[in-house]
Formats: sequence, C-alpha cells, structure tokens
Amino acid sequence: MARYFVWTIGCQMNKAESQRIAGYLDSAGYQAATSFSDADLAVLNTCVVRQSAENKVLGTLGLLQGLKNEHPNLQILVTGCLVNSNTQELKRRFPHVDLLFKPGNYPELIAWGQKQGMPIEQKLLRYPFAALRASTPCNDAQMPSSLCALIPVIQGCDNFCSYCIVPYRRGREVSRPLEEIVCEVEELARQGIKEVTLLGQNVDSYGHDLPGHPDLADLLNELNSIDDLVRIRFLTNHPKDISLKLIDAVASLNKVCEHLELPVQAGDDDILKAMRRGYTVERYRELVHTIRRKIPQLSLSTDIIVGFPGETEEQFERSLSLVKDMRFDVVHVAAYSPRPGTVAWREYQDNIPVEIKKERLNKIEELQAAVASEINSQLQGRQVEVLVEGRKKEKWFGRTRSNKLVFFEDAGDWLGQLAIIQIEKTSPWSLRGEVKK
Ligand code: SAM
Ligand code: SF4
Repeated sequence: MARYFVWTIGCQMNKAESQRIAGYLDSAGYQAATSFSDADLAVLNTCVVRQSAENKVLGTLGLLQGLKNEHPNLQILVTGCLVNSNTQELKRRFPHVDLLFKPGNYPELIAWGQKQGMPIEQKLLRYPFAALRASTPCNDAQMPSSLCALIPVIQGCDNFCSYCIVPYRRGREVSRPLEEIVCEVEELARQGIKEVTLLGQNVDSYGHDLPGHPDLADLLNELNSIDDLVRIRFLTNHPKDISLKLIDAVASLNKVCEHLELPVQAGDDDILKAMRRGYTVERYRELVHTIRRKIPQLSLSTDIIVGFPGETEEQFERSLSLVKDMRFDVVHVAAYSPRPGTVAWREYQDNIPVEIKKERLNKIEELQAAVASEINSQLQGRQVEVLVEGRKKEKWFGRTRSNKLVFFEDAGDWLGQLAIIQIEKTSPWSLRGEVKK
C-alpha cells in the first residue's frame, strides 16, 4: 500500500489544512508513514511568515531533493504560504516538486490525484472540505488530538498589516457558508469529535462576504446547539474588528470557551500606526477592560512583535509595560522579520540589530513567564474541568476551558471525558493535579 507523510510548519490554519490533506489521502487508500524516508508521497505544508520558517522550508525542500535522487518514484507536493500566484518561478527553483497548490486549494489537489489514478469519493468532488481526518501523523507534536478538530471558517485576510505577508499569499477574505460549517461540525460530532476550534486569520470578518451577512456570533449560536459537541473555540480576533455581539455570545453560550486570542503586536501608538493595525494602545486597553467586565473568567492570549523598524528603547518599554499591566495568560513574541513585498519591507529599513531584537524578545518572555506563573499559581488547590485529549509519558492530559494544559495520573480510561481535577502543582506552561471525579 502506498504511504504518505505530511510535514507541517506554521499556524493553526496550516495544521487544519494538513488534517484535511491527510483525510483526502486516507480516503484515496494511502497509509500514513512516520517519516519522509518511508513515504511514497511527501507533502510539505509551508510557512513564510518569518525568514526563520522560510529557511526551514527551504532546508526541507533540499532534503527532499536528495531523497528523490535516491528514490525517483517519490512524489512531492508543496502547499502553504510559500505557494502564491508565482508558481512558475517556484517550479523553476524546485523542479523536483510534482505539484504546487495554493493553501486550501483542495480541488487542485484532488484533480492532480485523479490524474495519478487515485480513487476519489464522490462526496469530496462536491465538498472538498469534507476531506477531514481527525488526527494527522505529522512532524508536529502540537497537532490537535483526535477529539479536537480545527475548522477553517474564513480564508485569507483583507487587513494588510504593514509587516505581514499573509494577505499576499492567502489572498482576500472568503467565508465558508454557515450551513456548510454547521453540517461539517454535526458530522464530526457524530464521529466523536468533542471540541472544535474555528479558524480565520481574522475570524471577526466571518460572513461579511456571504448572502445575508451572518457573523461569527450567529455561527457560534448554531454550533452551540449541536448535542454531542462539548466545547467551541475560535481564533484569531482583531482588536479593531471584534464586536460586542461576539463578546456577548462568548459570555452567554455554554459551550463557547472563555478564551480569546487578541494580538496587540506593540505597546506604542506610533509603532501601531506604522504597522497599520487600526487601533491605539488606549483603545486596546479599554477593549480588554470591557471584555473582562462581561467575561470575568476570560483567559487572554496575545502576539507581540519586537524590533519593528525604528523601535526605540522607550517604545519597546511601552510593550513591556503593556505586558505587565494586561496580565495576559499567554504571549507569543516574535522578532520582526522583513518580508519581501510587504509595505514595511518597501518603506522601512530593518534597522534594529539582531542582538537587540533577541534581547527584547527575551525580556518579554521572562516577564511573561513571571506573569503566567503568578496567574497559574492562583489555581493551586482549586478544581478545574478538563477535557481529556490523550496520554503522554504515562499521564493523561487535557485542557481547561481557559486553554490551560493539565496533566494527571489515573488508571481509568479518561479519553474524551470531562474530568474534574484538583490542581496540586503549577508552572507558567502547565498544571498538574489529581482526579476528583
Ligand atoms: N491575524 C493575526 C493577527 O492579526 O495578528 C495573526 C496572523 S500572523 C500570520 C501570526 C503572527 O505572526 C502575528 O501575530 C505576528 O505577531 C507574527 N508576524 C507576522 N508577520 C511577521 C513578521 N514580518 N515578523 C515577525 N512576526 C510576524
Ligand atoms: Fe497578517 Fe494583519 Fe491579516 Fe493578521 S490581520 S493575517 S497580522 S495582515
């Protein structure tokens, strides 16, 4: 039986797309391999959001060139944000690649498969998003478990933040019809999926391009009534677009978890302006205040970029102060990486030395570790509800509604169950405890 291996790097959207590609290959009769070297078909799902990710992609493409020289029958497919409309140039640079297809373009993948004589389920021709498989064997240990599914609801981004390559690679926003998503989640819940995470580069834009303009709150309302589904999450929000209606939906719908990913990117107004983010620091602070008033148990994650062109020490200190004041549960921090074709790449010089960027990144990470340690320590001795996703090193693990990772030991079978865990030990990254029921 032919075997495939999917290599994934990057955001949740890439992971979701890898799940779907694996689902399609399973349905075509392929079997999952554990590495490139025992695969007949290699799929590279790429990210070019930062140069460091792009370098890993290029390194892996080089490795595959070597493998193909040894095994000429190896077929190589490439998707993700490396692939844009300029596929001709990519084909010239990487002649060993058999198919380049734009992120989420499953019809192109399926058409290629048909040319290779792969059998195809009729349902996939009508509805390529159904090519979903619950868990993907993959290089990435962070892939969601077989009980949690990632569901893209809107593709692309219309925002054009000055540093970001995503709109150039994933194109303009296109929402999936609400009924199609509800049907898919109903089907997944019937198959045993307990939790879904709805994905979009900017989920707040969901539905603006659909007839009748349903929004994300409308979609959450529909999904909340699916019987076997236990939890619903979504990401990523944009501070300039998140609506009060959505916040009220999170506050009132019992299956929607009290967790938001609300990237701020910088703590200084001039930097935010140069980033073209469309809000001020004051507006962000007020917004978080409002959300916390409506959702007191809110857990909040953010993204910050350090070393944006021209970022002075004082401007960086404002990002630090913001992290200190806002008490985020999680901060994803990245050093600015110039991306060819973006506005920031065209208009600003990448003039912050690498050492300073690293220093600033470390300062934010250290501060955040202290903040998270303090927030999590408040859970010591408390009982939390955990959806148990699997086992790692003899321990069960799962997440709280607030997205905190919890480990516990127990001889019973907890997979897919909601367990009440009394927290005994905390760290900035995870919690440990004992089953109460
Ligand atoms: N849509 C989300 C938003 O509004 O922030 C996030 C999507 S973006 C692909 C994921 C994260 O990558 C961003 O939040 C940002 O912090 C980081 N990022 C994007 N472009 C970057 C760049 N040129 N250099 C460094 N980090 C970057
Ligand atoms: Fe990139 Fe900004 Fe769109 Fe996020 S909102 S994907 S950072 S352009």
